[in-house]
This record gives sequence, C-alpha cells and structure tokens, in this order.
Amino acid sequence: MLREKVARWIRPEVRAATAYHVLESRGLIKLDAMENPYTWPARLKDEWLQRLSEVSLNRYPEPAARDLKARLRDVMNVPSDMDILLGNGSDELIQIVTVTLSGPGRSVLAPEPTFVMYRAIAEVHGINFVGVPLRPDNFSLDLSAMLSAIKKYQPAAVFLAWPNNPTGNLFDVSAVEQIIRSASGLVVMDEAYHTFAGESFMDRLQAYDNLLVMRTVSKLGLAGLRLGMLAGQSGWINEFDKVRLPYNIGVLTQVSADFILAHHGVLDEQARQICDDRQTLFRELSALPGIKVWPSRANFILFRTASDRVNDVFEGLRAHGILIKNLDGTHELLQACLRVTVGGPEENDRFLNALGSLL
Ligand SMILES: *Cc1c(COP(=O)(O)O)cnc(C)c1O
Repeated sequence: MLREKVARWIRPEVRAATAYHVLESRGLIKLDAMENPYTWPARLKDEWLQRLSEVSLNRYPEPAARDLKARLRDVMNVPSDMDILLGNGSDELIQIVTVTLSGPGRSVLAPEPTFVMYRAIAEVHGINFVGVPLRPDNFSLDLSAMLSAIKKYQPAAVFLAWPNNPTGNLFDVSAVEQIIRSASGLVVMDEAYHTFAGESFMDRLQAYDNLLVMRTVSKLGLAGLRLGMLAGQSGWINEFDKVRLPYNIGVLTQVSADFILAHHGVLDEQARQICDDRQTLFRELSALPGIKVWPSRANFILFRTASDRVNDVFEGLRAHGILIKNLDGTHELLQACLRVTVGGPEENDRFLNALGSLL
C-alpha cells in the first residue's frame, strides 16, 4: 500500500507539516504578499530584454555570481571585509543556515509572531524551534524572556526580522545588541524591509563576530526573481557556502538583478512613494471605526477588527475583489488581526472604501 510506504519512509516531522499555502489571487487586487505594485519605465524594460536576449541559456550560470555580488555589495553597502552568500530568495538562505547548524539537541529561536519560515524550516528538518512571545500591546521584544530563553536553550541561531513581519515594527536597537552579546550562537538580522525602514545592522557586522545580516530583493520590487543575500564574516559564510547547491542562482536572475540594481534609483523612488502612501493608509485606517492599527516601518500595515468580525471583513474584502492576509488563528497575539500590503494609491483607496463599507 502506498500509504504505508509513505508512512514508513517519509520522516514524521515532514508528514506532520503542512505545505505553505497561498490563496488563489487571479483577478484580485493583490495586497497580501508585500509585493511592489509598480512596473519599470518602458526604456528600462527594453534595455533589460536586450540584456536577457544575450544570455547563454545553454551554459550553467557563473557559480560564484561575481558580477552580481559586486553589484549587491555596492547597492546594499556591505562592508568590504565582509563576505556574501546568495540564495534563491532569502527563504533559501534561512534553509541553508538552519540545515548547516542542525544536529542532535540543536535549537533555533525567534520572537513570535514573526516570519513563519524560521519555524517551518526548523520543524521539517527536525530542529527544535523556540518561539518567545513578543509583548502583546506593541509587539516589542520581551528582552528578559528572550535572554532567559537564550540562556536555557543555547540556540545555534536567533532570527530577528527587522522590521518584523507581520507586525511592522523595528525592535529596539539596544535590546537587539544585548541579544547579540548574550547569544553564544549566531544572530541573523533579517532586513527584508530595509528599503522602507532606512535602518540597518550592516555597519555593525565588524563589531560582533556572531552577527549576520540578510537582505532580499523581493520587497524592493523583484519578488519574482528569487534572490536573497546573507552578509557576514567569511569564517561563517565559507561554511554555509559548502551547503549551498552550486548553481542555485539562475542566469536569468543574475543578469536581471545586476541590470536593475545598476538602475536602483527607479526602485528607490518607488519605495519612497510606498512610504508616503503607507502614512496616508495608516491615517485613514486609524480613522475608521472599530479598528486598531499599529504603526509600520515596512510596506504593510497590521490592524485588528472586532473579534467577531475578522472573517466577515476578510471575506467581504475578497468579495470586493481585494485580497489581504488573514492572521486570525495564526498566533494568540494576532487574534482578529489582518495585514494589508501598501499598494498603489488607487488600490489603497479601493481597499479603504471596501473596508469602510464592511464595518
Ligand atoms: C518576505 C520575507 C522574506 C522572504 O524573502 P524571499 O527573499 O522572497 O524569500 C524573508 N524575511 C521576511 C521577514 C519576509 O517578510
């Protein structure tokens, strides 16, 4: 029987997991996944297509992705004495870090609620995941709970999304520094939303030998490319590089990312627009009755409805053609919470009008 064979051979932690679920979004205004709503000027698009037409698809990509790394080093301000590891999205980097650090008795730790992949990747690889609750009122770090969990579990890695997803806040810098100093293992600062927050731990890499900084181009407007970057001391990066599969960054991704990052002013301008629109969206959401809104340093906003209305609101928005993220039931601190990505001004208006009509 197939079922018995699967039960015998597939590891129990994999059978216990559920695949990452993405809701159907065809035909909907997509405000669920922190994507950039903007496209590129026609001139840039033509130039990009020209570059792509010159790519040799019959050849393997350059394994070390030298040009792209040099470009990223420049655009992301990576200190010259630090090394870079590239991943097929930062999801792959989280996987590489977790797998490299795995072993009997090993743990990884993160405050929760946070980006779900830290837990999901640890669990399918049979590594103990320690989630430490954030403070319920403003989702700041509970520093004493973090420090005692670090002391107790001696995690091989602490993951800190900064700004945090789905709460949108930056954790206090001095609290993060105390965590870095107290941890005997690695601390990975996941700066996926760096472009919207404008703050970074990149220039603290020299100060702490257990610190790594992770970035992605996904939230910059290149989610379809799948490219993430991990920066840190070569002593760490060289080890992770042995676990990375040799050609993990395809040639189309290498050429496309190198091209658009050479014109990053276009993406920076889009990010600036998104930050302006985030403030408008925050103000107008706050003015709606029965809604609690949390300030955000990222390109999304977390808000809470009345506890008996969250599913009606979510489904009502979908019936209006708008897809956001329903976080109710994903963590006890996120009861009745929804997360909306900052879209283009017209998308945001349609969302606000639909939401207003549902309250
Ligand atoms: C979206 C997100 C990522 C995923 O990035 P990819 O590069 O698209 O895999 C990583 N970390 C956080 C905190 C995110 O919100």
